[in-house]
Parts: sequence; C-alpha cells; structure tokens
Amino acid sequence: MRRFALLTIAAVVLFVIMPPAPRPLPAAPPGMAAPIRGVIHVHTNRSDGTGSVDDVTRAAAAAGLQFVIVTDHGDGTRTPDLPDYRNGVLYIDGVEVSTIDGHLVALGLPKAPYPLGGEGRDVVDDVHRLGGIAIAAHPGSPKPDLQWKDWNAPIDGLEWLSADSEWRDERPWAFVRTLLTYPFRPPQALALLLDRPEPVIRRWDELAQRRRIFGVAAADAHARVGVRSFGEPYDSAGSLHFPSYANSFREFSIALPDARLTRDAAADAGAVLNAIRDGAFYSMIDALAGPAALRVAASAGSITVDAQAPDDAQITLFRNGVAVANTQGRRLEHAADAGVYRVEVTLPSGPGTPPVPWLMSNPVYVDRRPEAPAPPRTSTASARTSSSADLSGPRTFHAVYDNGPARGWTIEKNAASDAALDVVGALPGTQLLLRFAISGSSADSPYAAFVMPATSAIGMYDRLMFMARADRPMRLSVQLRASGAADSRWRRSVYVDQMPRAIEVPFADFHGISTSMPEHPDLSQIDSVLFVIDSVNTKIGSNGQIQIDDIKYAK
Ligand SMILES: [Zn+2]
Ligand SMILES: [Zn+2]
Repeated sequence: MRRFALLTIAAVVLFVIMPPAPRPLPAAPPGMAAPIRGVIHVHTNRSDGTGSVDDVTRAAAAAGLQFVIVTDHGDGTRTPDLPDYRNGVLYIDGVEVSTIDGHLVALGLPKAPYPLGGEGRDVVDDVHRLGGIAIAAHPGSPKPDLQWKDWNAPIDGLEWLSADSEWRDERPWAFVRTLLTYPFRPPQALALLLDRPEPVIRRWDELAQRRRIFGVAAADAHARVGVRSFGEPYDSAGSLHFPSYANSFREFSIALPDARLTRDAAADAGAVLNAIRDGAFYSMIDALAGPAALRVAASAGSITVDAQAPDDAQITLFRNGVAVANTQGRRLEHAADAGVYRVEVTLPSGPGTPPVPWLMSNPVYVDRRPEAPAPPRTSTASARTSSSADLSGPRTFHAVYDNGPARGWTIEKNAASDAALDVVGALPGTQLLLRFAISGSSADSPYAAFVMPATSAIGMYDRLMFMARADRPMRLSVQLRASGAADSRWRRSVYVDQMPRAIEVPFADFHGISTSMPEHPDLSQIDSVLFVIDSVNTKIGSNGQIQIDDIKYAK
C-alpha cells in the first residue's frame, strides 16, 4: 500500500514537472519552403567528445538534420576532412582553436601552415588570411576562462546561445528537473536549461551596429558529462554518455531558408558556409516547436516578418538593440527607419526567465551599410609591400639597424633548440639572417630569441618598424623586455612569409605576457627588443629562417 502511495506521488510529481510536448505548427505561409537545417559546434572522439564522425552523422540523420559541423579542439594543423555525405547527412569539418582570449570556432579553413594560437586577434587574422570564418565560442560561459574576451577582434560571428554555457549555469532546480524528465522527453528536458542570455545578446547588438556580425546557436555537443563536476565534458571521476548526440541535435538547430543542397558535398558545404558567413540563417529551439519557417524581408522603408508559428507566438522586432514592435501571431509589419533590425519569436510556454527566443534571426540592415567583418588593418603589423619610405603615418624615425654588424645582439634559447644570427649581403648594404630550429618537449616551451639592445631613444617614439620575410608563412613574436627582469615582457605577434613586407607595431599594441603585469610597457624601463620564435605558432621539430632589415623606432 505504501509503495503504491509513493508511486502515485512520483507519477504526480513527474506529471507536474514534465516539460510540455513540442507545439504543433500550422502550414508554412505561402512561398516559404522548409529550411535546410543543421547543427554547429560538435566534438567527436578526436578531441573530448565520445563518438566518431560516423556516430555524429548518424545521430544528425536521426534528428532529421541535413548537415552537421564538427569542430574538434585543435590548432588548425590537422588536415581537415573534405566535406562528405555520411549517413545521408552533409558532414563539414571545422576546428575550435584555444587562444589566450578564449575559444574560437573556425570554419572553412585549409590545413594551417603553422599552429594557430596566442592572442585572439592574431588567430582571427590567421583564420581570415586562410579564407575561413571566425566565431567567438560560448562568450556567455559562466566559467571566465571560457569566455571570449577580445571584442575588438574582427570576428565574423558569435555564439548567442551555447548549450554548454547553459549547462554550466547555476540553477540546481532546473538541473534536477532536466535529469528527472530526460528519460521521457529528452530534447524538451534539455531545453529546460535554456534562457535568454541577456549580456551576450546586448554585446551582439552593440557590435552589429558597428559591423556585420552573425549570431548562432551552438550545440557544443560532446555526448558526455563529468560525474563529479557536472557541466564539464569530463573529469577525473569519469563521465556519463549524456545527453546523447541525437538528443542534443533535437534540442535546437540553425536553419538556412535560402540554401539549396545538390548532393555534391563540396558545393553544398560551400553553400552552407556562405549562408553562415552572410548571416542568412536563423536559430530555432526545435524542442519547443519545429521545424518552422521564418522570413524577415526589408524593402523600401518597411520590414515584414512571416513566421510559421502557433497563434500565441510573440514576434518582437528590435532596432539597434531596442524592441520597437511586437505582435502576437504569424506576421509583423513595421515602417522601418534606417537601422539594424533583428527578430525574436518567443512562445509563452518557453523555458527561462526571460524565456529563451524560440526563433532568433540574424541582423538585417535597413539603409545602412555596415563595415565588412574584417576591416583593413592600418596600423598593427599591416602587410605592406611598398618600401617603408612611403608609409603615410609616422614622420620621424630613429634607425636601430640599417647596415653593418649586429652590434650588441645576443641569442637566447632553450637547451634543445638552435639559433644563429648572421649579417648577409643585400641590395643595398646588409641585412640580418635569423636561423632557428625549435626542439625539445612541449613542457620546456621551446623557443629561440634574437635579442637586440633597445637604445634609450625608444622612449621618444611610439612604434617599432622593420622589413621582414621568412622562408615560409609563420608568426614571429616581437617582444619588449624591461631591464633586470627576465619575465617582464610585452609582446605582439606579427605575420611574415616569403614576401618582404614592412611591419609596423605600435608600442600601445604590445600586451604583457601575464595578466599580473601592467598591460602596456613603460618604455623608459625597456632595455631589449626580442624577435622570438616559440612553440605557440611554430611546430616543435621545425626549422627555418627570417630576414630582417631596416629596424627603426618611429613616431
Ligand atoms: Zn570551447
Ligand atoms: Zn567546444
């Protein structure tokens, strides 16, 4: 009898806390086809996920998706898999790069010529140089280490929603509710953890007014969770295969209304990536209802939103981050001034306070032409092929190395690495030849540094300029070191390759090597300028050479 009573109570509790079933949808408005759908940001057992690419594509097929974008952790030096149809789903291979400013999801990259890493802005530059798309990963993560930090870097997009961040959220009751109801309605149980990530959306709106930037809902699926530190992919106590890939993929997706797939994997991957780059997609919480069609059309002073939505859906139109129109139903029309517009559709039953947007559009620009996502860099380490004489900025110079011997230069390196500095003939005069071989174990952080004495004149200028080229594409770390303190260094990495280029690095652009130091150097304390090749951007076991000439301070 008592057992019966307990079972009854359990059943009533479950009934009360059970998330609602997905809402049925009316037919799509005329002229609106079902969108191509997929998920982005998935880990496999190549990094910290549990399944193979085959498991992931099978799960994506089971969830009714047309594409899946895998982004295992890496430095870009693994040759990415070619786009391929597996288990009937288009598989696109990307990478999630760890930078000192947070994680960056990079799509559409070839194999990188050197390891990608270091400062966020440098990795974004590298991704763009390689023709890829750079997305700030989980910017709203409750774990500060995981938040994206460099909002001046010209990222193409950000993850406005990350299942991973929502998991790490501290809402114990939502967690318990998810665990108890997961066996019955898995995607809906997972969606209970979602809400509207206000700070991230605010940041996105702010950036969108300056330049084109898309927002994407990212699965960050690992199909595992740590036993002890719930919310981490795994910990020392082991992990559970939960939630499954298929259930993560049924929770939410991104929808590409205009993309057409042809079953040619390379062409289709191009179409999917172009749609993402252009922000021609929307995010959708399928666990609440879906798949649904959404269209945001801007024409001659007006915006029209059509949504395949239940009668009680709320369509909200935002202009420059502020809600300017709201209606219940399937259509919203609004006379639009110039501005950046975005649409959110919410369902009254949606989880979270405030509720997570069920459909989230990308910015639409009315009578405003935003800058391209990657504005041309004018000052920092800009690649100029012209001679340094016609640089327009600085007016006065102080030559540090021009011709002749390398007076006072020294070499520093870890024991296993090799380095040599030679003065070689050039037209006209001489230049410096830096040769290096980076060797040792990664625990020694192998490096080779060419150290130039900084004259006291440095304090009267605001930038370092030099000509450089290397025998292959690479990143060189330029550093300023304070006297008497080996670890007081400020650094800025620059890109060099076979093409001679004039490099210009403002001192204000140097950042301390640790957060405990002043962010920028006090030039009166600087006694050396270092040109460093290290394992942040150079593969251990590789060697090469760099030619440097015409080193000067400028203002
Ligand atoms: Zn990450
Ligand atoms: Zn990830």
